[in-house]
Amino acid sequence: MRIREKVKSFEPYEGGGESPDIRLDRNESPFDLPSELKSEVLDKLRKVPFNRYPSTSARPLRKKLARFLGLNLDMVVVGNGSDELIPYFIKLFDGDRIVVVSPTFDMYRFYGALEGLEVVEVPLKEDFQLPLSELKRQVQDARALILCSPNNPTGNCYRRKEIVELLETETPLILDEAYHEFAGRSQQDLLEDFDNLVLLRTFSKAFSLAGARVGYALASDDIIDYLLRIKPPYNLSTLAIKTAETVLEQPQIMEERVQYIVEERNRMISELKEYCYPSQANFVLMNLDLHQYLKKRGILVREFSDPLADKIRVTVGERSANDKLIEAIKDAV
Ligand code: PMP
Repeated sequence: MRIREKVKSFEPYEGGGESPDIRLDRNESPFDLPSELKSEVLDKLRKVPFNRYPSTSARPLRKKLARFLGLNLDMVVVGNGSDELIPYFIKLFDGDRIVVVSPTFDMYRFYGALEGLEVVEVPLKEDFQLPLSELKRQVQDARALILCSPNNPTGNCYRRKEIVELLETETPLILDEAYHEFAGRSQQDLLEDFDNLVLLRTFSKAFSLAGARVGYALASDDIIDYLLRIKPPYNLSTLAIKTAETVLEQPQIMEERVQYIVEERNRMISELKEYCYPSQANFVLMNLDLHQYLKKRGILVREFSDPLADKIRVTVGERSANDKLIEAIKDAV
């Protein structure tokens, strides 16, 4: 069997398979959907035929999302998680290189390499802000620049005027806003001025739907039109579509939960302030090498290899879980 050498060079995605007492390693929402909402999803599912394919691009969900966001339907595409959309956006543009920063979400580098591209990794500055002049140099003739704001795993947002300067280079910018609800800000309005901007979003975090696998992207109608030509048809199941549609009908549930997580995040940071980096997301990067110790205490957090090997990333959970984490850390330091 002739497996491509490139494929042999990758490791399977390590999703943190264990079931610890307290799971704070995957930036999930700690809250399941309220059972009334689950019942509504099930009622809707009873009425749809499972023997029929869904709409090829989940048009009814795109329409609801467009209305929710105040955009046109033709600026919205949905994916089986936002993760699914990353390689399709990479395939869309021309050029031999993509540019990413380091540290950031690993999947950008992975999909770039899988596509056979050179992946240029530019280190963030010490305060985790953008090395703007170096990035402006590197993006010349690049296929795309991929950034994430708030950035995973550092937790900070990038400055709007720097994002604008990068867009002015005309290189496509894929800006992952998976955690934007927790920051209370987004760059969505820049879509009006820049047709080289793609925003990636997800239902997995603020909307509590990591298990349903629904993500979306926003971009100019031209970009979305091309993306729809290359994405797999029927990429969202009827189950995922109906679940996301139902959640969108009651956004106040998501908003209250975001408020809770933001308050808990700020509490966690003030309790452990000597070790925490500032965060505008639903997780906090901490200058503590305590992954194994916390694991023994039944708390799973995210560990890293270099250059973050001495740090952990802690997802903000429910109050009682956060209390246990804070107590365990205070016992250790
Ligand atoms: N982008 C970022 C920055 C993430 O952290 C994640 C998940 N951890 C994703 C995208 C993927 O999210 P999903 O596929 O669940 O929508």
